[in-house]
Amino acid sequence: PNSVPRQRGIAIPQGISQHRFFEALDELREELGTQHVELNDKELRSGWYMEHPNTHDMMNIVEQEELVASAVVYPACTEDVVKIVRWANKYRIPIFPISMGRNLGYGGAAPRVRGSVTVDLGRRMNKILNIDPDDHTCLIEPGVSFYALFEEVQKKGYTHIWVDVPDLGGGSIVGNTVDRGVGYTPYGDHWACHSGLEVVLPTGEVIRTGMGALPGNNTWQTFPYGFGPYSDGIFSQSNFGIVTKMGMTLMPNPGGYESFMYTFQKEENLAPLIEIIRPLRITNILENVAQLRHCLQTLAVRGLPRTTYFGGHGPIPQSIIHEELEKMPIGDCTWVYYGMSYGPTHIRKYKLDIIDKEFKKIAGARKIDPTTLPKDEYFWSRDRIAAGIPDLEELLWVNWMPNGSHVAFSPVSPIKGKDAERLYELAKKRHAEAGIDLMPAFCVGLREMHLIVEIVFDSKDAEMRKKAEICLRDMIDDAAALGYGEYRTHLVLMDQVAATYSWNDNALMKFNERLKDSLDPNGILAPGRCGIWPERYRGHGWEM
Ligand code: FAD
Repeated sequence: PNSVPRQRGIAIPQGISQHRFFEALDELREELGTQHVELNDKELRSGWYMEHPNTHDMMNIVEQEELVASAVVYPACTEDVVKIVRWANKYRIPIFPISMGRNLGYGGAAPRVRGSVTVDLGRRMNKILNIDPDDHTCLIEPGVSFYALFEEVQKKGYTHIWVDVPDLGGGSIVGNTVDRGVGYTPYGDHWACHSGLEVVLPTGEVIRTGMGALPGNNTWQTFPYGFGPYSDGIFSQSNFGIVTKMGMTLMPNPGGYESFMYTFQKEENLAPLIEIIRPLRITNILENVAQLRHCLQTLAVRGLPRTTYFGGHGPIPQSIIHEELEKMPIGDCTWVYYGMSYGPTHIRKYKLDIIDKEFKKIAGARKIDPTTLPKDEYFWSRDRIAAGIPDLEELLWVNWMPNGSHVAFSPVSPIKGKDAERLYELAKKRHAEAGIDLMPAFCVGLREMHLIVEIVFDSKDAEMRKKAEICLRDMIDDAAALGYGEYRTHLVLMDQVAATYSWNDNALMKFNERLKDSLDPNGILAPGRCGIWPERYRGHGWEM
C-alpha cells in the first residue's frame, strides 16, 4: 500500500484546542471502550478497494490532507451512536458517519470538514437482523455489504430470492442506498426499494420511520410510508440523521435470465439509439438499468494501463482505440449496449425479438453472440451483476492511470436523443480542453437517464488532479446552463452542485438550512454534506 507522510499534523477539529480535544476523546473512550476510539495520527495509506482507509479519500481530487478525519470511532449498537452524538454536541465536534466508506468516486471515507471525527458504523454494526423469505425483505445494519447479504441468502438456501448489486459488491447496502446509489437488476433503484429506517437524530433522539413507528407492527419492511409525512427522504443525501437500521425489499428469482450485448459503429448513432431505447425501457421490454457505454471504457476495463496503447499526452487518439477494439472479441465499434432479459425462455424470447428488431434499425448494429466470448470477457461481469451476483471486475478501468483514481460527472436527463447529444458534446468539449480521455456511459433508469462520465486520473499528480477538477466544474456549470443537474456528486463538488438547484432564489436550500438548524442546532453532523451547512459554519468560508 502507498503511504503519504503527514505534512499538516493531526487534523484537530476547528474551534477546540488539541488538549481539550484529547480530553474529549478520553471521555469517549470511557463510554465506548479504549479500542473503539482511534486517533488518526498515522501516515495516510491508500490501500485498495477491499482494504480501503477509513480516515480519508484514497482517490483524492484535492490535496490528500485537506479532507481527513481527526479520529475514528466504532459504535457497536444504536445506543453507542446516541452516546457519540451527545458527546459531539457537548464539545461541538463535527462527526461524519460512514457505513463502510467505500464511496469511491464520491469522496470515499473522507469527511467534508477536515478534522471531523468519523463514525465508522460498519465495523461493528454489521448484522443481518432478518431475512423474511416469504415477504422477500430484509432488515440490516450499516456494515452489511452486498457480498455479505448475497452470501447469507445463498447460505440459507433461499434460491427464490435475489439481491440487487451495484458494479462493485464490496460497498455497504445502507451507505449506497442513503447516497441513492444504483444497481442493475429491476430492483436497481435502491432508495425506491428500501422500506423503513431507524435513525439517530443529531440531538440524540432515535426514531423509526414508516410502520416502524408503530409498536408491535409486522409491516416495517413491507409498507414504506406508515402514516403522516413521509420522512425517509430527508435522511438520504443529507446530514439530518445517522441511519442505524434499514429495511430492504428483495427481488424474486425471475426464473431465468440472459444477458445480451449490441455494438453500434458510429458516434452519431447515439441520438437515434436513445430514441429507440426510451419506449423499450418505459414499457419494461428493456428491464434493467441498461448501460450504453463508450467503447473506450470497454478497452479500459481490460485493466491494462493507458500507456500500453498510447505513450503521448492528451486524449488517446480515436484511431488507436478502434485498432485495439478490432483485436478484441467484440470487434470495432463506438457504443456498446449491455442489457439483460429476465424470465423463462419463452418470455425472454418475446422481449429479445422486439429488442433485436428495434436495435437493428441502426445501420451496422451487431448483436454479439455470448457463446463466442471467453469467460474473462467483461460481458460476463455485467452478466453476473445484472443477475444480482456481486463482482469486483469493474475496478479494472481505474488502472487506466497510475495511482488510478476517479471522479464522476453524473447529470440526469430525459431519455431523449437531443439531450444525450448535448451532454455528450459538452463533455467532449471540456475533456478535449483539459486533455483528458472521455469515458461516458448512459445509464438508463425508467424515465430518465444518468450520464456517468468517469474521469480517471493519477491522484499523485497534482497538475492532473487540478485539470480533472476544472473539467468537472466546467461540465457542472455547462450542464446547469442547459437545465441539467447531477444526481450525486463528490464531496468537493457538493457546494457547486447544490448551488445549481437554485430555483426561486435558492428556496430549496433555504428549506434544507431551516431543517438543518432545527434538527442539528449545534451543527455537529456532517457539516457541508450535500452543500448543507449549519448556521455555525454558513458563510464562514467553508464552501468549496
Ligand atoms: P459509504 O461510503 O459508507 O456511504 C456513502 C455516504 O453516505 C457516506 O459518505 C455518508 O456521507 C453517507 N452515509 C453512509 N452511511 C450512512 C448512515 N448510516 N447514516 C447517514 N449517512 C450515511 N455506486 C453505485 O451506486 N453504483 C455503481 O454501479 C457504482 N459503481 C462503481 C464503480 C467503481 C469502479 C467505483 C470505484 C465506484 C462505484 N460506485 C458505484 C460508487 C461506490 O463504490 C458505491 O456507491 C458504494 O456502495 C458506496 O460506498 P459504501 O456503500 O461503503 O457507502
